[in-house]
Amino acid sequence: MSAAALTPSRPAAPRSTLVVGAGLAGLTAAVELAEHGVRVTVLEARERVGGRARGLEVAPGRWIDAGAAYLGDRHTELHALLAACDLKTVPTEMAGASRFALRDGDGDGATADGRFPPLNAVALGDLFERLEELAAAVRPDAPWLTPDAERLDALTAADWAERELAHPDARLFFPLFLGEMMAADPAKVSVLHMAFYLRSGGGLRYLNAFAGGAQQDRVAGGAHRLCERLARRLLDAGGVLRTGEPALAVEQSAAEVTVRTPEGSYRAEAAVVAVPPLLADAIGYRPGLPVPRAASRTERGCAVKLNLVFPEPVWRAHGLSGWSVNAAGPLLSTVDDTPPEGSPGVLTGFVTGAEAHRYAALEPGEQRAAALAQARRLFPMLPEPIGFHLTDWVNEPWSRGCYAALFGPGDWTALGPTLTAPHGRVRFAGTETSTEFFGLLEGAVRSGRRAAADLLAAGPNAAGRPAADLPSTPLEN
Ligand SMILES: Cc1cc2nc3c(=O)[nH]c(=O)nc-3n(C[C@H](O)[C@H](O)[C@H](O)COP(=O)(O)OP(=O)(O)OC[C@H]3O[C@@H](n4cnc5c(N)ncnc54)[C@H](O)[C@@H]3O)c2cc1C
Repeated sequence: MSAAALTPSRPAAPRSTLVVGAGLAGLTAAVELAEHGVRVTVLEARERVGGRARGLEVAPGRWIDAGAAYLGDRHTELHALLAACDLKTVPTEMAGASRFALRDGDGDGATADGRFPPLNAVALGDLFERLEELAAAVRPDAPWLTPDAERLDALTAADWAERELAHPDARLFFPLFLGEMMAADPAKVSVLHMAFYLRSGGGLRYLNAFAGGAQQDRVAGGAHRLCERLARRLLDAGGVLRTGEPALAVEQSAAEVTVRTPEGSYRAEAAVVAVPPLLADAIGYRPGLPVPRAASRTERGCAVKLNLVFPEPVWRAHGLSGWSVNAAGPLLSTVDDTPPEGSPGVLTGFVTGAEAHRYAALEPGEQRAAALAQARRLFPMLPEPIGFHLTDWVNEPWSRGCYAALFGPGDWTALGPTLTAPHGRVRFAGTETSTEFFGLLEGAVRSGRRAAADLLAAGPNAAGRPAADLPSTPLEN
């Protein structure tokens, strides 16, 4: 008798799987499946892999991040994947004093030690305590089951601030905080989503911190490099990667899934759709989804990221960290993003929340002039830039916002219960399907691993739960 015959029978994995989206989530799922012997084809809309992780070469061999950049110790799955892909992290440089232009009297910016804004400390302490209380009350694995979920989901963060924040400094700082933390306009997110996001990311203190927190490190060479390494592993495991091929339709019968792109049709026993919710919802499904992937109040996360390149990080010689927080735009915050080699100097600016929409609507010349003028007011020692890069994530057609989708009033109650539910032979991944570290790289990795594990456990028919009305015969071409 063979050893195999003695082994209790486990369902075999699907023999073939299509993965839609070559961001971190899709590639994580694809590699996991391919390395378990599944034939995997990844269909990616862009001509590059990485999605919201994108690298920029600011000088020969010197890379920075135009998209996702930071990670912390609690991002354990991401760290494990980086190590498995032979990539290192580098600490985020934050030595020096901060600049704050928060009050009218600050003029062009006041310099202060540390990162705590020079506003009323009691008012800010109270604000943070209230946010922590909200986050602590959320059910992290299923926010829609939080006691009082319906009320919290009906209220926007702006409504909440209007009712709860009496001190002008708390009112001033709250939208800046939400913009920086979640790329959110408080009018666009529900209180439930805000509280969940803070909880899911490890709590407000962790999310907000550099040393010891979620911004402690960066990926050496850029976060996109992880996706490039994963793509290489996929090909090495016999997988196929087709870029420039957006999925238009996902159709399934009882026996297989067909994904249609402008170039043709692909068939497999299962599929993983690993794209942001607004884009997942734009794909046509047959049979149709019982619940959409995005609702009418689901919004694009709003951030424009600017990278201003100078020969050297000159602010360091003046005792400044490059960090700034500003009440007026376009640059609501800046940070030193100089590559670990020490040059060129890169000052990265974030335009977030409602300001991102206003700024994104300007002409390119106006955008550049406004950003440079503000950077010079904050850091008068800046020389003429040698590079200026702007990534308008709000209007990137294959991202539709960043850092992550914003769940508006009613979204969690409507979408939450089916966020990770299989649709017949189709699984959903992507950072917005992860209740752990939602919106972050770590969430993307965890979602990809979950989708792959689910398929590997589901057996050859791959149908975790039958999609209603699956035709028993293959669909017509
Ligand atoms: C400016 C910015 C800053 C950020 N900062 C951080 C940070 O510091 N730390 C952190 O952890 N996270 C950060 N994030 C968030 C992080 O980038 C995301 O959480 C993560 O990259 C999401 O990965 P994903 O695979 O879920 O989605 P994506 O990266 O969006 O991947 C989805 C992929 O699907 C493709 N696609 C879309 N539609 C289709 C279709 N119909 N057919 C085929 N392909 C399709 C897209 O082109 C894309 O490649 C940031 C994001 C941005 C943009």
